[in-house]
Parts: sequence; C-alpha cells; structure tokens
Amino acid sequence: MNIIIFGPPGVGKGSQAMLLKAKYDLMHISTGEILREEVRNQTELGIKVKSIMDKGKLVSDDIVVGLIVKQIETSIDKNGFILDGFPRNITQAETLDKLLEGLSVKIDHVLRLESDKEIILKRLAGRCYCDKCRKDYNIYFNQPEIEGKCDICDGKIIQRSDNNEKVHLDRLDVYSKETNPLKKYYAQKDLLRVVDGMGLIKEVFERVKKVLES
Ligand code: AMP
Repeated sequence: MNIIIFGPPGVGKGSQAMLLKAKYDLMHISTGEILREEVRNQTELGIKVKSIMDKGKLVSDDIVVGLIVKQIETSIDKNGFILDGFPRNITQAETLDKLLEGLSVKIDHVLRLESDKEIILKRLAGRCYCDKCRKDYNIYFNQPEIEGKCDICDGKIIQRSDNNEKVHLDRLDVYSKETNPLKKYYAQKDLLRVVDGMGLIKEVFERVKKVLES
C-alpha cells in the first residue's frame, strides 16, 4: 500500500505516519526528517537549507525530489511507502506522478488531516522531540511520563529550531498557498481521503484505519 499524508504543519501527520508504518509495515519517507538529519550532520546540503527551514519556507523542489527518489525505489520491493511532507506543491505532485509512472507504482490513498487553526497553533507551540531517539512529543498534547525525559531512552526532550510564533504563522501561510491546492489535485484523481485530525493520536488513528480499510 502506498500512501501520501498531508495537512497543515502541526496537524499530526508525523504521529499518524509512525503508526501507519508500524501497522502496515510501510517505509516512512519524511522529507522534513531527512532534511533535519542533513542539518544535524552539518552536511553541505544541511548548511544550505537550515536558514530556509528555520524561516518555515519551502526548500527548492530539486533538492527534495532528489532526496525521495532513492527511498521510493527502495520501497518497491517492500510493502509500500508513506510519504509525509512530500509533495508540498503542485510541481512536486506532478514530478512524483511522473516518477511513479516510470516505476509502475501507484498511489492508493492520499490522506488529508484537518484541524482547527487554534489547535494547530497550540500543537506547533508545544512540539518537541527526544534529542537521542527523535521520538516526537508535545508539551500540551503528548507529554513524556517524566518531564523533560524521553519515555523510551534516556534522551532529553528539546524543541525544534523552527519553533516560534512568527515561523508558525509563516508556515501556515506557505501551507495554504502552496500545499492546500493538492486537495483539489488529488480529489480529481479520486485519491483524496479527508480525516478529522482533532482529538487524541489514537482516536485519529482509528479514523485513519477506517478510511483505509473501507
Ligand atoms: P516538516 O517536518 O514536514 O514540517 O518539514 C520541515 C521543513 O522542511 C519545512 O518547513 C520545509 O522548510 C522543509 N521541507 C520538508 N518537506 C519539504 C518539501 N516537500 N518541499 C520543500 N520543503 C520541504
């Protein structure tokens, strides 16, 4: 099964993608995570994209397309993939279509998670993660059992470097201009599945499974 998951920043795509990966044994391809890894490792690419990411702007299409090609090719012999954070605009969606056509791979579902703007802003403000194993947390919605400590390793819980209110509003603006048009693009291809992203992670996952299995 090949899935694309999209929705505004902070809606919970990453959390749902992790659960989908575990349930259906999919390869989780997150362009944001791949880029953050490049930044952490201070690679040439990481140094180039850091300030763009910190401002909440989109990295160039060429860069992100280059990052996903190999991963999609690898997923072909496996159970499929979940694309999280890609495509982010119509150009990327068209490029992906051509790439998949060349590989004779089809997208089965495009999940769009939706949520109220106030909840999204609160989720964005609360976002943090373990500096060791990268598990995501949220100080308002998904706290670790012991404050500041990861539940699964002895890592420290820290905030993302793109975490400030101006950046959150900019990211939402970029989302509505660039990414939101994907709704129509995939609806026309009859692939769009809209899911209410509000509530607990496990409640949203129940809705996601229902949509995929119906
Ligand atoms: P994310 O974790 O998906 O919210 O992505 C974090 C940041 O990485 C975004 O704000 C962008 O700067 C960059 N990024 C991730 N995916 C893409 C993409 N498909 N196209 C352009 N920039 C991206």
